[in-house]
Parts: sequence; structure tokens; C-alpha cells
Amino acid sequence: MELLKIKNLHAGVEEKEILKGIDLEINKGEIHVIMGPNGAGKSTLASVLVGHPNYEVTSGEALLEGEDILELSVDKRARAGIFLSFQYPEEIPGLTLEDFLRSAKEAVSGEKQYFTRFHKYLVKTMEKLNIDPSYCDRHLNVGYSGGEKKKNEILQMAVLEPKLAILDETDSGLDRDATKIVFEGLRSLKNENSSMLIITHYDKVLEYLKPDFVHILVNGKIVKTGGMELIKYIEENGFESFKK
Ligand code: ADP
Ligand code: MG
Ligand code: MG
Repeated sequence: MELLKIKNLHAGVEEKEILKGIDLEINKGEIHVIMGPNGAGKSTLASVLVGHPNYEVTSGEALLEGEDILELSVDKRARAGIFLSFQYPEEIPGLTLEDFLRSAKEAVSGEKQYFTRFHKYLVKTMEKLNIDPSYCDRHLNVGYSGGEKKKNEILQMAVLEPKLAILDETDSGLDRDATKIVFEGLRSLKNENSSMLIITHYDKVLEYLKPDFVHILVNGKIVKTGGMELIKYIEENGFESFKK
């Protein structure tokens, strides 16, 4: 079943066009990866989908279950089921991770989250992702390492159960072990109701993630779509061959 359909999307900043006609379809339950050289427009695509105010859409559409999300406010996109990892707050004194996740879940689902039931759900989710349950009581982002912040991002995603999670370079700054935990964790969240659009430039990630589709984005356009076999091609040839 179709979840997201992007049609001929053009977007940019001020006078500069960055996305030059993106077409992309994501079905429910699928994991898609976008790779490409620096400056191709990967982050711009993620930013446009989540509603970052710096970017202007000049034409095209992005339909989530038939509704054009490009018209919606950032909040409404979150309630429509798009996960916005960009919105993860910086340090907030006095707020524990559990408090934060409970209120985020209330905001996105529109349903009251009762303390005891939420706590059980959170601990179960943390165990599934190999995150130490004592984290619940830690103050949000205070003294977290880069790797811990990323793990929390995945935890936040697991708790919110979005229809579509868009993660931009979640691998950056992770060591090998943390990369494995984070991306195997993501893979373990794969289910028929949630889809993922993951931007990375680290090949190793794909071994853990086992995506259904890999797209190569070059100069504002998707120039190639395939499966895992594309990785081997990129390893051997780089992105240069796509630039022509
Ligand atoms: P990628 O994530 O693939 O490395 P980006 O989407 O970050 O690429 O950037 C694509 C191009 O758009 C780059 O040339 C970058 O310099 C430019 N760009 C991105 N954001 C802005 C911005 N806010 N202002 C000006 N130029 C930008
Ligand atoms: Mg960049
Ligand atoms: Mg980027």
C-alpha cells in the first residue's frame, strides 16, 4: 500500500534551485535509503518533507496517504505521522527523558499517556533497542555523548510509532559499535505500518539496515534506484559515474 508519493518536486533557497524534480514512492513497511555525493540535495529533501522554514518549494507535491503534506504546518505533519528527528530538543534542565517522551507521545497521538502504562511501554521499547532502562530518569540530553543522543533519537522514533521516519545522517559521529546498535535497532523496528527514509553515506549502515530500496541522488535528481547491489557498484565506482 502506498504511503508517500513525491511528484516532480522542485525546491531551493532564495534564488537557488536545489531539488530539480524529485520523484519517489514509498509503500507501507518499506525501508528506503538515499545516498549521494556532498551537496546533492539529500538534506534539502529531508528538510522540505519535514517542513523546515528555510526551504521554498517551487513546484511539485508530496502526498502522504493522498494528502499533500507540503501545505501543512510542522506540527500537523508530525500528527499526520511524519517523524521529525530535527525537533529533538537541546538540553532542557529538569526534564527527564521519560517526561519528554511521554509528552511528545501525547502531542503526536492526541491521547493522554497514563504514567504507569507509559512507563511499562517505554521500558519494553528500550529493551528491544538495547538501551539501558535507567536512561528513563536521566535529564534530557544533559551529558549525553553523541552516540547516546543518536540512540535516543531512535528511541523517540520507536515510542512515537510514526508512519514515516526521515533520518538524515544518523550515522555521523557514531563509532562502529554504536552504528551497529543504532541501525540494527532501526531494522528491528521495521513493520508493515511504518516506513523509513534514511539518508546516509556510510556503506556499512546498509548491512545492518537491509533496505528494500537504495536511491542515488545527484545534483537535485534521483539518477538511479535499485537494491543492495547498488552498494557494491558505488564502492567500486564512487558517485562519479552518475554525474555525467
Ligand atoms: P547534501 O545533504 O546532499 O550534502 P544539501 O541538501 O545540504 O546537500 O545541499 C545541497 C546544496 O544546496 C549545496 O550546494 C548547499 O550548499 C546548498 N544549500 C543547502 N542549504 C542551503 C541554505 N540554507 N542556503 C544556501 N545554500 C544551501
Ligand atoms: Mg551537506
Ligand atoms: Mg546532508
